[in-house]
Amino acid sequence: MEVKFVDLKAQYQSIKPEIDAAINRVLENTSFILGPDVERFEEDFAKYCGTKYAVGLNSGTSALFLALRALGIGPEDEVITQANTFIATAAAISAAGATPVFADINPRTYQIDVQDLGRRITPKTKAIIPVHLYGALGPIEEVVALAKKHGLYVLEDACQAHGAVRNGKRAGAFGDIAAFSFYPGKNLGAYGDAGAVTTNNEELAKKIKVLRDHGASRKYFHDVVGYNMRMEGIHGAVLDVKLPHLEDWSKKRRERAAEYHRLLSDAPEIILPEITSKDHVFHLFVIRTKKRDELQKYLKSAGIQTNIHYPVPIHLQKAYAGLGLGAGSYPKTELIAGEILSLPMYPEITQEQIEYVAVKIKEFLKST
Ligand SMILES: *Cc1c(COP(=O)(O)O)cnc(C)c1O
Repeated sequence: MEVKFVDLKAQYQSIKPEIDAAINRVLENTSFILGPDVERFEEDFAKYCGTKYAVGLNSGTSALFLALRALGIGPEDEVITQANTFIATAAAISAAGATPVFADINPRTYQIDVQDLGRRITPKTKAIIPVHLYGALGPIEEVVALAKKHGLYVLEDACQAHGAVRNGKRAGAFGDIAAFSFYPGKNLGAYGDAGAVTTNNEELAKKIKVLRDHGASRKYFHDVVGYNMRMEGIHGAVLDVKLPHLEDWSKKRRERAAEYHRLLSDAPEIILPEITSKDHVFHLFVIRTKKRDELQKYLKSAGIQTNIHYPVPIHLQKAYAGLGLGAGSYPKTELIAGEILSLPMYPEITQEQIEYVAVKIKEFLKST
């Protein structure tokens, strides 16, 4: 048997007629950049997230970057995030001219440690970027309360958490502003690079609309120096077709996660992720084991694709050697980086495939 890490084709097959019609509509109306399909998606996505505004952009990285720019964050400023995230979280801070500062994590949930976060606040700190890592909301209420106390902005990195909800509030509606990615493999994926910000702040939404389109308030009248970071029409059309399916896909991801739990609960060498009802939309299903590298090799030889999110914490990446944060700076982040393994996870994965993965994991544990 073969088990892919994600299978984007299976999802396309399940909604092909709707997707093909939407793409053809854009080909016919030639609204290739922004336009009515992007506007419709922005409205629908804001409604879905429970925010007043959503602004369509060309990637999640651009969403993080433009959010920081709209908040007025730049040189001399510090922004606190976590080191166990995709590099783009830190790179957006650097691109805005500010300095990324990292807080350590809770080794059980993998989310930012709010106490450690509090210790990293300095007079230069302007914002916090908590990452809803792997699709879980984490301690977002505590982060928001801490930020309020210190007069800091909260920019949610919701790139992995489309639709995650707690007490009726969704990812993207907790902070001052939030960044989403619609990279094809994300829970809500475009057919290319795309992203968005969500916010309840009209001024921030307006600023980002200007910044994404060359700083223009209208065509060829440029109020500020901006960027070309607009969402393309085909992505708006595809995303608006997919959005009504997202609840069902998230439900399926949670069911698949529960199934992994059931099948692996008697494997003591494996630490399973916490399941917290709808808080978690399981963008990734991440287990922990001291025998990670051997297990990954074993699964590969059995036709099972796995990944590591992420093998090198950002403070230990060559690109950030300049921060001078060596090994030992964030013990918990560094500990889990050597033990985590992401198992195949997508709504269309079958019961047989999950059983096969679980059998192979147990087979490996028995053989060692
Ligand atoms: C995917 C991702 C990003 C970047 O999104 P792109 O659309 O690929 O630019 C940022 N942060 C996190 C946590 C991500 O998973």
